[in-house]
Amino acid sequence: MLETREGGCHCGQVRFRATVDLDLLSQCSCSICTKKGILHLSVFPADFELLRGKDALTVYTFGTGVAQHPFCTHCGAHAFYVPRSQPDKITVNAKCLDGIDGTTLKPTRSFDGRHWEDAQHKRISDGGHVAAAGLNGAETLKGILDRARA
Ligand SMILES: [Zn+2]
Repeated sequence: MLETREGGCHCGQVRFRATVDLDLLSQCSCSICTKKGILHLSVFPADFELLRGKDALTVYTFGTGVAQHPFCTHCGAHAFYVPRSQPDKITVNAKCLDGIDGTTLKPTRSFDGRHWEDAQHKRISDGGHVAAAGLNGAETLKGILDRARA
């Protein structure tokens, strides 16, 4: 069920609002998602608004550099990011939504990011969204930051 919810980092300097569907909660086996313990909710940028915290974010990248992993410089929480698999979208970390009991979250989808190329091929052949070729997530993140209030 689509619902508009707010969330943010731990210290509260980064806040966002997004329209998400908790029935489409996804988990990923890749190196960074495993370490961060992220549970994913994929949204288009039009359904995501950074309410505050633009200047509090530091962006981490690795590997291909396509994915953008912003985190709060003050508390270290990763509330959202731009994934390599769909670099024109934003992934909300469901655990950073307000009022969430993380122990009750039940992922219904899975992306085997440890075997990224195979997982991406499977995701697309199952009808998943495909971003424009060659897009870097930095462009998507810039769009989000440019229309953020502060
Ligand atoms: Zn913070």
